[in-house]
Amino acid sequence: MANKIYANYPPPLSSEQETLLIQTVKDWTIEHGLAVRPSTAIVPEETNREKVLATTAPVTLFPSPFPKSCFDQARSLQQTYNELYAAIANDEDWLETIMKELIQVDDFIAKLWETHLRVKQDGYIQNITLGMFRSDYMLHTAKDSPPSLKQVEFNTISSSFGGLSCLVAEMHTHLATYPSPQHPVAYPPHPLFNNHEDPSVQSIGHPPPNTAVSTLTAGLAAAHQAYGPSKSSPQLPTCILFLVQDGERNIFDQLALSRHLHKHHGIPSFRLPTSKVMSYTHSDFEHPSRPLLYTPPSSPSTKYEVTVVYFRALYAPTEYDNAQSWEARYLLERSGAIKCPSVLLHLAGSKKVQQVLTSRPPGPNHLKTFLPNHSDAALESLRSTFAPQYSLSSTDPAVKAEGIKLALDPTTAANHVLKPQREGGGNNIYRTNIPPFLKSIPESEWKQYILMELIHPPEEAHNTALRRDGAVYTSDVISELGIFGTCLWKNSPGVKQPEVMHNTEGGYLMRTKAKDSDEGGVAAGFSSLDSLILYEEA
Ligand code: ADP
Ligand code: MG
Repeated sequence: MANKIYANYPPPLSSEQETLLIQTVKDWTIEHGLAVRPSTAIVPEETNREKVLATTAPVTLFPSPFPKSCFDQARSLQQTYNELYAAIANDEDWLETIMKELIQVDDFIAKLWETHLRVKQDGYIQNITLGMFRSDYMLHTAKDSPPSLKQVEFNTISSSFGGLSCLVAEMHTHLATYPSPQHPVAYPPHPLFNNHEDPSVQSIGHPPPNTAVSTLTAGLAAAHQAYGPSKSSPQLPTCILFLVQDGERNIFDQLALSRHLHKHHGIPSFRLPTSKVMSYTHSDFEHPSRPLLYTPPSSPSTKYEVTVVYFRALYAPTEYDNAQSWEARYLLERSGAIKCPSVLLHLAGSKKVQQVLTSRPPGPNHLKTFLPNHSDAALESLRSTFAPQYSLSSTDPAVKAEGIKLALDPTTAANHVLKPQREGGGNNIYRTNIPPFLKSIPESEWKQYILMELIHPPEEAHNTALRRDGAVYTSDVISELGIFGTCLWKNSPGVKQPEVMHNTEGGYLMRTKAKDSDEGGVAAGFSSLDSLILYEEA
């Protein structure tokens, strides 16, 4: 079935067509800000001393085909996933049982947990949390059955590319429909573009609209609103703070959100690199609401009160490279601003939590516990997206964890990926590298990893990408679909279930990488931004 869709896709181009398509993409991307700041590997520092240059983000030339039923399913699950992770972050006791083991062997997780405990001792002031989530999936193809949706991971911190992914969908739509849907100049006729008769395939001919920017900014705006008026006396103007990495290259993705936030919600936001938190923010510990104050260095006479701290940084241990980094995280966590995410929500997004959630009766049914008001059918639909995952801890030394057996045997390891509790790409160990890797580290450290069965995406998928160095490559590809969602909730003392105030789904990210690359991050340089063209087969 899938075979047929990819048989002639992307459609072959004459050299004149290819020249036009590539030039159009290069121009459209810069015209619309589908761009990144170049890395020094692409543009050496001496040719860009004043850092004025921006360059086309890595993009595919065509949208990737995706079964409509799987896309619809991913969308339909998002609000339940949002609620699930809100409930997990709200349940400190449960998280503690998961984190207890990791803390012994993972310094980063230990420091995050310690930060939570320090703030807890001071007393949390803010009981509202914002989640800006992205649930990532791949299509899984098993013999003789149609492709199904499997979750790669659920992101609770710094879920990126909402801004640029909207632009890719817009660009592919332009390419597929300009000057008319019947006769686009950039793409040759093809059933997926709905301009070439083939009654066995149904498609609208271009990517579905991508609402990631409006969804994500509506989440930020809901949190800003929920914070209420300034708590300072005299009252101060309020703002949202985007906490960013020093030297961020993916800045246009972030600016798309701040621009929309101001234009459509009238909310000002400021970008603050993590290294400057201690210099430009302040929170009076004695004040009953501990408002977080921000003084823009360029206009020190105007102070703002921060309603929401939106983390586009501080998810990786390498970002905590000076003594003040953890103090900065603590200061923000302890303040009265709403955090997106709180430390507990950050921890809820760990791979270990994802693995533990796969447990089902006769083991603990965590899904039912966290989502008591959802039908069994709804929970089964969620569960159907879980790939098998295993713990590598043997709490009982007499019974070797099943995960350890699978990971150490080269035959079974070949169908698995080993994941540490890290974000941002480039951290996993794949297939037959797993057994020698585990043997190279002390057995006591194995429990910081989880083992996940490999998802097998359609073999036949192809696409063409314009890489960040300008090279154009056509290859066998693997695509990963992310669905965005936001959730705002309140935690009441003694109540396990969060009080959900805002819960939405909207917008998507498609990333496509060459098949021979295991990792999938765009920022990490592994994949290209893509969009999708939905199809149904008759
Ligand atoms: P990170 O937090 O670093 O993004 P991920 O869990 O998303 O970690 O893994 C990184 C990449 O590894 C994914 O984008 C995907 O390409 C690949 N990957 C992860 N899990 C699987 C899996 N079960 N099967 C196939 N590929 C996977
Ligand atoms: Mg990922």
